[in-house]
Amino acid sequence: MLTVENLHAWYEHSHILQGVSLEAKAGEIVSIIGRNGAGKTTTLRSIMGLVKKCRGSIAFDGTPGLLDQPAHSRYRLGLGYVPEDRRIVPGLTVRENLRLGLVSSPLKRRETEIIDRVAETFPRLKERLNQIAETLSGGEQQMLAIARATASQPRMVMLDEPSEGIMPVLVDEMFELFARLKEEGTTILLVEQNVERALAISDRAYIMDHGLIVHEAPAAALLSDKAIQDRYCSV
Ligand code: ATP
Repeated sequence: MLTVENLHAWYEHSHILQGVSLEAKAGEIVSIIGRNGAGKTTTLRSIMGLVKKCRGSIAFDGTPGLLDQPAHSRYRLGLGYVPEDRRIVPGLTVRENLRLGLVSSPLKRRETEIIDRVAETFPRLKERLNQIAETLSGGEQQMLAIARATASQPRMVMLDEPSEGIMPVLVDEMFELFARLKEEGTTILLVEQNVERALAISDRAYIMDHGLIVHEAPAAALLSDKAIQDRYCSV
């Protein structure tokens, strides 16, 4: 589904990603874990097309040369992204925010049906479709950001720290949701501080350090490898 080879990225003169290679197969949940500043967010942003200066190669769902395409083209190919800061539109209702997720999607014609379906998947949002988004709790806003990114039924969604700052009951719901998205065939690339929970639902994981992938393993193997976790995953 996604193949990233030798990806380099720069912010101004800082060389942040120094040759990242990773892949996610169709239907997998793949985690990227690592300390603060390791380059996880930069990896997701580079894949999405939000970092100006990148080099390397990225292929997605059979399309090579993703680095030559702008972010909106990558979105149209079926790549979704929920950034750490969520970016919902605070003054709009939940329903209006969901509609934004369909603006340039072929599914826009079926908007009402799609929003009904999303509401079934996200019961918390169903009860709040007409509520102004900024009045949602932090966790509900995160659910809305995920719902908006998945409304257009992307082939793959990248999630950056989805459980950050969210109360435990919503974190539980969120991880159940990821398992459901996987069952429906969505590929997920996940960056998560909550390493144990992330590994528990992942198929495989990559460990990043100083802009490089330093280790790759089945998630179950990493889950039981405390030495690796202590070395690379403590904040
Ligand atoms: P965290 O868990 O703290 O979000 P991360 O692994 O996601 O960490 P990145 O956010 O990708 O790491 O940051 C990697 C490096 O790039 C850090 O040294 C950071 O300071 C730097 N960096 C991130 N964004 C920018 C930017 N816009 N301009 C300059 N440097 C940046």
